[in-house]
Amino acid sequence: METIYSTVKPTQYNIEETRIDSCLLDTDALTVVQKLKESGFTAYFVGGCIRDLLRGITPKDFDVSTSARPDQIKHVFGRQCLLIGRRFPLAHVRFGHKAIEVATFRAGEPDEANLIVRDNRWGSEEEDVLRRDFTINGLFYDPSTETLIDYVGGLEDLKANLLRSIGPAKVRFRQDPVRMLRLLKFRARYGFSIDGEAEEATLSMQRDIHKSSPARILEEILRMLESGASAPFFQLMGEYGFLSLLFPSLTHFLAKPEGREVFRYLACLDQVQKRKSGFLPDRSTAIACLLFPLLEKTLQIDWIAKGKTPHLGEVIFTISSLIQHTLLEAFSHFPRRLTAETSSILVNQYRLTPLSGKKFHKERLFQHRDFSAALQFLKIRALVQEDLVETYLALKQQYQHFLQHGKRSHARRH
Ligand code: ATP
Ligand code: MG
Repeated sequence: METIYSTVKPTQYNIEETRIDSCLLDTDALTVVQKLKESGFTAYFVGGCIRDLLRGITPKDFDVSTSARPDQIKHVFGRQCLLIGRRFPLAHVRFGHKAIEVATFRAGEPDEANLIVRDNRWGSEEEDVLRRDFTINGLFYDPSTETLIDYVGGLEDLKANLLRSIGPAKVRFRQDPVRMLRLLKFRARYGFSIDGEAEEATLSMQRDIHKSSPARILEEILRMLESGASAPFFQLMGEYGFLSLLFPSLTHFLAKPEGREVFRYLACLDQVQKRKSGFLPDRSTAIACLLFPLLEKTLQIDWIAKGKTPHLGEVIFTISSLIQHTLLEAFSHFPRRLTAETSSILVNQYRLTPLSGKKFHKERLFQHRDFSAALQFLKIRALVQEDLVETYLALKQQYQHFLQHGKRSHARRH
């Protein structure tokens, strides 16, 4: 079938126009593109890495799109290449521990009016761009000629700080409702404005989000929790009505004045993530930020306000029912490892700073497998609550000492 996109001609921009700093290009990704081109294929950098390069940011990874089919990619890179994915094969070209993801040009379903369940047809480079979500993510870059190839007006939108969907927003969001969350993700990360059509579509179609696979929704949310822009993202999810659809119990708490505390935790999490030094908080620490204020409030109401102090066992019980209500009821396939780690971080807060004020057995706690995650979360608590700074710094120092000396003497004793 003839599609409305079939005659699109790209605009090409040279290095003077794009000002992409070639020092920010990844040398391994350059090798991949170069080798594919030497073997007679078309190959470009694509997607998020181009968007970041154009904004002068070092991309966190480089994706490559190519005319080569997976078996041909495998042939070019031999044992360095691993084919992954069954439904839609992708190639990982390995450089030590690092892998560059290489995908064959794919065709989308630009005219499909319903949810797309099949996304596995090979296509032309033009079709590969047109299946993508937003114009700012639809750019190709050819490093060998230093040319930007723009089929969708992405460069202009990037310069105008505008988020615009590729194709009619309502159609594209119906095909894949996760795109609405991605729209908020880019707005949260860059502060870009959303174009009128995409805005209207998002505001009228939030409920479609339930048609998407929970695993994909969760993955976008977890990635945002690690992005350094989790606070604005959760704020936007609230404003656009996704929070109440995805996390009903949490939304109820966030609507109360004490719910603001969650945003303070997320803002501190973002602050730590953006510093990009030392230990970076992982997903369980991020989830602990979402739950801890609610946990504190629950313990306050159920125990402290009644003049009682809960035992650790009762705290553990409150944590597991909180996880059940806020996470598992919303995402029945929430990864078990993640809930176990989050639970451990939360429980350990009541060992590090016991409600009873009693001293705890530090050595035993330091040996705990998840202790460093608990300490990391205490750091975030100390950013929110200044009176914890001293406790955090003292514990950190004692733990470092334990790691250097304690472990050894402990080993000698056994
Ligand atoms: P990030 O910096 O978070 O990785 P990204 O834009 O690179 O942002 P990815 O999830 O890595 O996001 O996706 C890579 C590219 O694949 C995107 O830039 C976009 O072109 C395309 N893409 C991702 N998800 C979708 C989707 N749901 N619909 C259409 N295109 C998508
Ligand atoms: Mg990416």
